[in-house]
Formats: sequence, structure tokens, C-alpha cells
Amino acid sequence: MFDRILYPTDFSDVSMKAVNYVKQLKKAGTKEVVVLHVIDERTLVVPDVFSGVDFMALENELRRIADEQCNKIVEQFQEVGLSAKFMVKKGIPFLDILKTAQEEDVSLIVIGSHGKSNLEEMLLGSVSEKVIRKAVRPVLVVKR
Ligand code: ATP
Ligand code: MN
Repeated sequence: MFDRILYPTDFSDVSMKAVNYVKQLKKAGTKEVVVLHVIDERTLVVPDVFSGVDFMALENELRRIADEQCNKIVEQFQEVGLSAKFMVKKGIPFLDILKTAQEEDVSLIVIGSHGKSNLEEMLLGSVSEKVIRKAVRPVLVVKR
């Protein structure tokens, strides 16, 4: 039923917790996982006060770290016999998650309820809230 899964991650604790749920879904017939990390382009805008900061170098470094972390996650999925690949995109996280779900034609999105901010009083993070609201496919929300 859930042949192909999109697993968007910000590498936060909650999102890493979701890795195990994705692995378990192999028993339910899952074959393939697409791991996605979105580098938020809004964090790469250049305010005047930071005109000395090399944003290109910053972006390259963020990509390098993301590639490394995504690779480790892909290996974890492959170890249990799932086929897996990763993508690192630059954009607006919720938009790129929805767009990738469509492009890759996944049958399920597995997302953490919270991410890096993980504010106690929030029922959901803003990325997961928008994905749940706008996705036209099933979403599995792994709680913190
Ligand atoms: P907020 O970002 O609103 O301050 P938060 O960081 O606690 O809150 P979200 O950012 O909504 O929560 O994260 C929820 C889930 O969304 C994460 O567990 C992860 O699965 C996914 N996610 C968040 N940011 C990204 C990202 N940049 N790329 C891919 N997936 C992401
Ligand atoms: Mn976040």
C-alpha cells in the first residue's frame, strides 16, 4: 500500500525517531524511500549587516553536511533491505516537501511532529503543520 515513501528530515531528534518507523514499514510492503533535506533559502538571504559573510561558502558547507547525514540515513534503510536515495534541495521546506511528494509520486509522507525548534507549547511545528494541511496524500506524523 505504501510502496514508496517520502521521508523529509531536518536531522532533529524527532525526525531521526521517524527513521525507525520507516524501517518498520517494510513489513507493510514498502520498497523504496526518498530522503529529502531542504536548505531553507530564507536563512541564506544577505542582510546588509552581514555583507562580509560568504553565503556561497556557507551554502556549500550546509550542503556538504546535509549530504553526509543523508548518506548515513540512506545506509540505514538499505541495511534493512529498502531501496533508498536522497535529495538535498534549496528552497522553502514545506513547499519543496509537497513538490517532491508529487514529483516522486510517493504513496506516503513520514514526517516528525516537531523539528529543530521543538517548542514545548506547540502542538506541531510549522513545516509539519503546512505539509499535513496541504498534502493530497497520506501523512504519517511521528510524535516527539
Ligand atoms: P518550527 O520550524 O516551526 O520552528 P520545528 O522545527 O519544531 O518548528 P518543523 O520544522 O515543522 O518543527 O519540523 C517538523 C518535521 O518537518 C521534521 O521532523 C522534519 O520531518 C520536517 N522538516 C522540517 N524542516 C525540514 C527541512 N528543512 N527539510 C526537510 N524536512 C524538514
Ligand atoms: Mn523547523
